[in-house]
Amino acid sequence: MSGAPKPSPRASARIDLRALRGNLERVRAHAPGSQVMAIVKANAYGHGLVPVARALSTGPAAVDAFGVACMAEALVLREAGLRHPVLLLEGVLDAADLRLAVHHGLDLVVHHPEQLALLEHTRLAVPVRVWVKLDSGMHRLGFPLQQARALGQRLLQCPNVSPPLAWMTHLAYADDRRSLRTPEQLERFQAAVRDLDGPRSVANSGGVLAWPQAHLDWVRPGIMLYGVSPFLGRSADQEGLRPVMSLHTRLIAVNPLCKGDAVGYGGTWVCPQDMPVGVAAIGYGDGYPRHAGIGTPVLVNGRRAALVGRVSMDMICLDLRGHDGARVGDPVVLWGAGLPVEEVARHAGTIPYELLCAVSQRVAFTVQDEPVLVSTGTGTSPPS
Ligand SMILES: *Cc1c(COP(=O)(O)O)cnc(C)c1O
Repeated sequence: MSGAPKPSPRASARIDLRALRGNLERVRAHAPGSQVMAIVKANAYGHGLVPVARALSTGPAAVDAFGVACMAEALVLREAGLRHPVLLLEGVLDAADLRLAVHHGLDLVVHHPEQLALLEHTRLAVPVRVWVKLDSGMHRLGFPLQQARALGQRLLQCPNVSPPLAWMTHLAYADDRRSLRTPEQLERFQAAVRDLDGPRSVANSGGVLAWPQAHLDWVRPGIMLYGVSPFLGRSADQEGLRPVMSLHTRLIAVNPLCKGDAVGYGGTWVCPQDMPVGVAAIGYGDGYPRHAGIGTPVLVNGRRAALVGRVSMDMICLDLRGHDGARVGDPVVLWGAGLPVEEVARHAGTIPYELLCAVSQRVAFTVQDEPVLVSTGTGTSPPS
């Protein structure tokens, strides 16, 4: 069989599924008494929904459910053959999506009176499982806490609802591991659902790592599965996590520039001396942040170099002083193993979540998994 030769990728994102499973094991270790709903919205935080969900659904730590933001994401999971419970974190907006949810066996968040009315006024073939979202202080989605009991009664009277109800809320200050608002939110939520039946869920990644009292029946980790710390000013290795995505490209030019030469659009950086400046093939058209400032670190041949000048659509320029051996074609790492995305995000004035989600279609994704294990034993004793 012959095919046209494939172009060698310019920029590539390597997705390490071993790291992903290791991070899931960290979730299990932190919250051993809780079920795990892996949050895989936004294409699994930019990592690729199907390979990530498949990897999370097998192995000893396998997740119990998935959480997605919208119907389209849920359908991708079903089309890939994943039969786990899937929760639509924003629920549905109309009867057509409600029927689609029933057809595909999806679970619904109900966070608004309109959704309650929709459930009561639509005829469904089978009842759905409902997670009631309560607002314990974030003031984004959710019913006021004091309505919990009445809501519960109303939903349980609705023939479209399959009991028991599940109860959830979302933490607004989970990026601060010392925030006093988090225990306040938790206490308010617990008081509101005290006498009500059904499982409870509060903890996102910040809750999993820093607030054991928030673990309850279900935890909902997102960012930590991808090997990123949810806390400002901390990096993944401090939490025992390993980055899942590494973003790579190569040098396409190494230019000997002179003292006084201005580099890139607007000439925002001027060479302080005669020096080599590298050009790497990645830019905001690939999802590398345009706001990454002068001095943002990258790895050239595994060693740190600093970004200079403005990020262009397809390229960035690098200060290669001290990288005398650097040549066209040499590898450049933008973030991942050896260079925390948390650090790059700080230089770009944003959070790692945004950088990971923004990696664009032009980047080639490759998935690295466990090598297939070959048995070397005699086959008489089970593996320990
Ligand atoms: C995105 C999301 C999460 C996961 O948050 P992380 O900070 O990524 O762990 C959990 N719960 C809900 C409702 C979410 O929308």
